[in-house]
Amino acid sequence: MAKLDFSFENAKKLMDGYYPLYIDGKWMDGSDKEVMDVYCPANQEKISSVACASEKDVDTAVKAAWRAFPAWSKISLTERYNILQQMYARLTARATELGMVESLETGKNMAGNVGEIYFAIDQFPYFASAMRVAEDGISSAADGSKTMAVREPVGVVGAICPWNAPIIMCAWKLAPALAAGNCVVMKPSSFTPAGTMELLKLVADLLPPGVFNVINGKGSKTGQFLMDHPGISKLSFTGSTEIGVQVGLAAAKRLIPATLELGGKSAGIYFADIVPDLLDEALGYAAVMLFMSGQGCALQTRCIVQESIYDMFVDRLAEVFRNYKVGMPWDTSARMGSIAYEAHMNSVLDYIDIGKKEGARLVCGGSRITSGEMGKGFFIEPTLFADVDNGMRIAQEEIFGPVLCVIKFKDEEDAIRIANDSVYGLGGGVMSGDLAKALRVAGAMRTGTVTINNAATHLAGAPFGGFKQSGLGRESYRTTLDHFSEIKTINFKY
Ligand code: NAD
Repeated sequence: MAKLDFSFENAKKLMDGYYPLYIDGKWMDGSDKEVMDVYCPANQEKISSVACASEKDVDTAVKAAWRAFPAWSKISLTERYNILQQMYARLTARATELGMVESLETGKNMAGNVGEIYFAIDQFPYFASAMRVAEDGISSAADGSKTMAVREPVGVVGAICPWNAPIIMCAWKLAPALAAGNCVVMKPSSFTPAGTMELLKLVADLLPPGVFNVINGKGSKTGQFLMDHPGISKLSFTGSTEIGVQVGLAAAKRLIPATLELGGKSAGIYFADIVPDLLDEALGYAAVMLFMSGQGCALQTRCIVQESIYDMFVDRLAEVFRNYKVGMPWDTSARMGSIAYEAHMNSVLDYIDIGKKEGARLVCGGSRITSGEMGKGFFIEPTLFADVDNGMRIAQEEIFGPVLCVIKFKDEEDAIRIANDSVYGLGGGVMSGDLAKALRVAGAMRTGTVTINNAATHLAGAPFGGFKQSGLGRESYRTTLDHFSEIKTINFKY
């Protein structure tokens, strides 16, 4: 791994000043010449720009993907396996640089973000292997005949990604889509396109033209064109529940499948029996929600604490929050960076005001950081609200910022009721010294992932996705290949 300085200048040098569209194996400007600038949210400096895809460009990309599909879908598993492994090798060799680029455009802490890249690209060897062990079924319906159930690729996948973890989201869609034999047209978030473009540059020549196309542009234009294109045979979307519903409707209108990875308001339940042995660990896990400045879909943003330890827990957690170092993405001593863009920072600050007006007790934080170097960017202090009622808007709506709501519960039943009182169901956690109780509670939580006495770890091979309004389908798991395939029955007589 190359040794590089974590600095703004170095990271900026790793990016291109301008990224054209990538369609049919060629770099090209958008047909209407529209260009969008990319900024670093930590200091508001322009760091790059991208070409925007018009409706015509989206159409060109989808058609190129269909031209590539017959050959790509027929190459041998060994060949596809080798390509995915080579992609992984190239990305691994440049993981540090990818992490730096992504940090610059998202405002995330650079050193921590490099770890995220390794986690992201692990999808390539995982799906390279998973596709080789996936077996088609065969049964004997009647004497002298057999029924085979064979998996076939869906065709061309339209993939739409969010801004909070662009490279993870790209890898989580690209690796299984290619492994299942599909071609892809991907649209990264308009706020954070550069990381995906750098990933693309590293792997582009390993894939035949048209197999992987990347188009940039605003969601309301380029995203909408892609979502509505009649040539798309599956939509794979990660983003807000609001847009996810529109993607689901667009898919329903054309009767194509859609995987929807959407928002969350996950609950971490802290039982009194964590004291004393698990207390320090528990405080650390509660503060994990500050990771990515709280801009993570599955982060446990509701901290539900048993009444007998509530006051002590809030006091101790406030200490952790006050000492949690916020800094520029390239400050290696910092643990939390900035918010991803100005309008989103304002939305988080609005929620902090809403919380105060709703009567929650602001224990620490609550303001934008306006002094020093951070004053140039969009930074918010780690913010802790106590005495939160689960019916308050700050406990029900996804804030997507460094704001933790601490809620009191009486007993096991009460904890489960509060945790499940949400339209979302993505992540969740239980901390308890009683493993039987923790497993019982985990089983009762209506959510896609639950951690027990642990922080969130979503390794390749652990299914990720949501119950309720947190989405449809699962990523990062062997059954994800099924979401990218059609099953065909072939019945034959012999
Ligand atoms: P978003 O819904 O605003 O945007 C997501 C993507 O959709 C972007 O590429 C955007 O350009 C595009 N888009 C916007 N409008 C569109 C339209 N009309 N048609 C087609 N595409 C359109 O979400 P965001 O703000 O980028 O990301 C934050 C959200 O993503 C949060 O709600 C978060 O919880 C969610 N998220 C979920 C997961 C998960 O796996 N469940 C992971 C990361 C983020």
